[in-house]
Amino acid sequence: MPQPVLSNFLTGFVFVLSAPAGTGKTTLVRMLSKEFDSIVESISYTTRPPRSNEIDGKDYFFISEKEFESKIKKGDFLEYAKVFGYNYGTSCEYVNSQQKRGKHIFLVIDTQGAMQLKEKNFVAVYIFLSPPSLEVLESRLLNRKTENKKTLARRLSWAEQELKKISYYDYHIVNDSLKHAYAVLRSIIIAEEHRVRQLST
Ligand code: 5GP
Repeated sequence: MPQPVLSNFLTGFVFVLSAPAGTGKTTLVRMLSKEFDSIVESISYTTRPPRSNEIDGKDYFFISEKEFESKIKKGDFLEYAKVFGYNYGTSCEYVNSQQKRGKHIFLVIDTQGAMQLKEKNFVAVYIFLSPPSLEVLESRLLNRKTENKKTLARRLSWAEQELKKISYYDYHIVNDSLKHAYAVLRSIIIAEEHRVRQLST
């Protein structure tokens, strides 16, 4: 039997993945968690209403503005940000509990959230996924048929802002083909697991 490429760690790592909407980040993380038992996606809290195909507790924990505010006050979030008019936040407790189970946890969050984590020197591997160009992103969003003219323009202009943050990340993957992007992402995870880490004194 060949050795598995990922081992069983006592404490998992955190991977932060940011990408403009329509870049394929959700698909890529689902592919990873399907291939590797040790990889899970963080489930964020949001005040956005669920889309027709979304399940509470699986895609997000859908909560009210009031509940979100109370979680902020209690310090429940590792980071939180407003994206396209709705609040999104990563639960400290969820991330910790998955890490303690030895799972590598993926935070699929926007650049505002990732920058908050960087500012606090939060230890994670920061990965940015970008579309080959803004034109390609526009046609992908059009194909998704989830956007009207106004939201499409808003998403594209926000994508342009997010792309300016690439230099803050450890890795940059261009999703020109899903197969290629997956091969690169997979290699990053494997390499990070094999990195020699310094013990803190
Ligand atoms: P959507 O509503 O399309 O699922 O997500 C919109 C954006 O919010 C995406 O860029 C997604 O990565 C980001 N997002 C999802 N959860 C979180 C979170 O917990 N924190 C932050 N900062 N962004 C998030």
